[in-house]
Amino acid sequence: MPLSPAASIRTRGYGVSDVGNRDARAPRVKSDSAEDRFAAHIDARVLSRSRQRRTSVVGAYGHWASDVQKEDTSDRTAVDSGTLGWSCDGVRYRRDSSGLRISETFFARSSVKTRTLPVRFHPVEGEAIDSYLEAYAARIGATSAEFECAVGLTENPRNRRCGWLVQLSGQQLANLSEATGLPMTCFPQMTLSHFDGRAVRVDVGQRSLTHGAPWGFVKGSRFCPACLVDTGGRWSLIWRLGWSFACLKHCCLLANECPECGLPQRVQPYPAALQPKPGCCANRAPNADRRSQTLCGATLASATVVELGGNHPSIAVQRDLYRVIDGVPHRGVYGRGVHTSFEILGDVRNLAREILGNLDEAALAGLVPADLLAARSLKSKNVPRSMGAAVSVPERAPAASLQLAPLRALDTAIAVTGAWTCLSATEIQVSAALVRPIIARPAHSLRPPVPVAFLEDRCITPALASVYVGALGPDLTSVEQLRHRTHTHPIPILSHRARGSPEFDRRIPSLFWETWSLQMPLVTQWSRTRRKVLSVAVALCGSRVSFAEVAGRLQISLKMHTFNRALASIKESDWVSVATAIERASEFLDANRPPIDYRRRRTIDYAGILPMTVWHQICTEHGLLTLMPCADAVRCFLVERLSLQPVVLSSAEANCLKRYLGTQTPSMARALDRHCREYLAARGVGGEPLTWSLDTDLIHDLNLPEPDPGRVDMEALHALIRNECCSLEQAAEQLGVSTGVIAYCLANHPAPKHLRR
Ligand SMILES: [Zn+2]
Ligand SMILES: [Zn+2]
Repeated sequence: MPLSPAASIRTRGYGVSDVGNRDARAPRVKSDSAEDRFAAHIDARVLSRSRQRRTSVVGAYGHWASDVQKEDTSDRTAVDSGTLGWSCDGVRYRRDSSGLRISETFFARSSVKTRTLPVRFHPVEGEAIDSYLEAYAARIGATSAEFECAVGLTENPRNRRCGWLVQLSGQQLANLSEATGLPMTCFPQMTLSHFDGRAVRVDVGQRSLTHGAPWGFVKGSRFCPACLVDTGGRWSLIWRLGWSFACLKHCCLLANECPECGLPQRVQPYPAALQPKPGCCANRAPNADRRSQTLCGATLASATVVELGGNHPSIAVQRDLYRVIDGVPHRGVYGRGVHTSFEILGDVRNLAREILGNLDEAALAGLVPADLLAARSLKSKNVPRSMGAAVSVPERAPAASLQLAPLRALDTAIAVTGAWTCLSATEIQVSAALVRPIIARPAHSLRPPVPVAFLEDRCITPALASVYVGALGPDLTSVEQLRHRTHTHPIPILSHRARGSPEFDRRIPSLFWETWSLQMPLVTQWSRTRRKVLSVAVALCGSRVSFAEVAGRLQISLKMHTFNRALASIKESDWVSVATAIERASEFLDANRPPIDYRRRRTIDYAGILPMTVWHQICTEHGLLTLMPCADAVRCFLVERLSLQPVVLSSAEANCLKRYLGTQTPSMARALDRHCREYLAARGVGGEPLTWSLDTDLIHDLNLPEPDPGRVDMEALHALIRNECCSLEQAAEQLGVSTGVIAYCLANHPAPKHLRR
């Protein structure tokens, strides 16, 4: 025969009641032997605070009482009659005005069998486990500690660790399933481990969240007041994620704090000794004593939120973020690259922190909807002056925010919407232009950031690195711009250890090809310096190889300051076109191997080229004995032409060379070429053209300062040389080009001996 409720309570020895809710008829924790009993069965731990509830729960299931232990008076403690005690699972507790206290003479019992709870209660979709347990406890009238014991989550309420919010152990799953009558499979998705590897990282051993998940969680939990109304105060698990800032159902921002006490929600577990009230604030009442159990109790549904509407960009961003967390790839600046959700979220966080550190409305215009910015400035105005100052001063988000998202959903919405808009641009250049106002701050322009340090500082994908480089490009030094190829569309993704082509010295000559160099500005009075600067610049482009290594491998005698000064002088005038040309040349040479191995050409000994006998023979054959004294100049010319290494001429030799170029004929040039080919073949160089040049089609669209030498009117030039007997300088003046261009044209297209007038 079932025991009556009162009998069961008495028999089981629960001395349960609450401050201010003492019932004269309820058993008290006194020296009474019937009151200091430990529960033999976990079901018996489902206790209510009021006698009425206790009766309804325990009384309805009076058969639990059959498991009641025998009285054991030795366990009795000297619980003061003025305190209220209850014992549970082998532990004696007593409550006083400060809450839960534990009597030292009691100890926890292990392995208590869980039984099915009297009331079946189902979670709502997407509900967090803590919300479910609280709602369940409220449903059956238990305090949160009692309920956690009842469902086998906690064996020792004295040490109430809520690791189960992160992950449930196998035993806890079994206990929960047993107690609630629900399948075990429905619980893991109610814990944060549901997002493990996607939005948070879980330390399985510790059952806690660990580092490595960008903005994985927020302090406590945000909430949607309208959802709380709809569900009767049930909390979604996803609101705990740092990335949740808007409710997709009600198209509003989430709330982050209680409308009464102004504190964030669910930072701490529900007070152990109290019966949960779903939908109400569980923070301590604002003016309550520290030891008091009085709660704020405000209705959270009354919290005000920013309404967004279904077409608001932030709602779309929230939807996209959830997709990323679900593993759907994001295109945008990532193109077809494959990235994990952590990598993409890490990028968003990185950029979002920049936005939070520089909440300048002008910089964010076009990136962040105006209503969000207006809501933020309104909020800033409404806070007390001391806080308002802190809010309005733009400063970089603190380091702690690497893991923890900003507390306010509004701040998160602003930062994440801005960042996501930037990262959703399909071209890195477009994204860089959007990012530039955010990160180009006075601090950056005073001290141009070194991209390597800037980028290694951040755990970001190469795509965002390129966006940053593009955005900071105008502030970078010329060399760094070239290294990162900031003028290439799209900006290539440069790894920090990129070294360009490993055999760049085979592909790049010491003196850059004249077809290109003649179109570039004359950086010094020496045209060879310009060619050397270009060769070094092309080798440095898209690579982190050092200047010294480039100069050494290209066998170029060029001081670094000369190089930097040359680039600086270009930067003042035609930098964009020149840099673009250099980057295009570098890109082409990385991908294509020229038909000439310039490293080998540099190592050949040219001492024996054009012996006097050969020169004499060529001059005689072509009836140009007047050129005989030019032998040394021509020899130097040939060496430079074949090796593409600078050969310095004396002024006499330079004059001789000009004379030779103006006088030589096509057949004479062919004879010299034949000699050169034989000379190279004798040194094992076969199958290579004598000379080669980078195609000028690569730069035909650029507005370079000097004209393409290929466009010089050769017939007019030849006429000037042959018929007018002009010197090279005179011809250059007549044609409006430089002497270097004329020399190049005549070297490659000698004027015929006899020209028809
Ligand atoms: Zn909602
Ligand atoms: Zn509150």
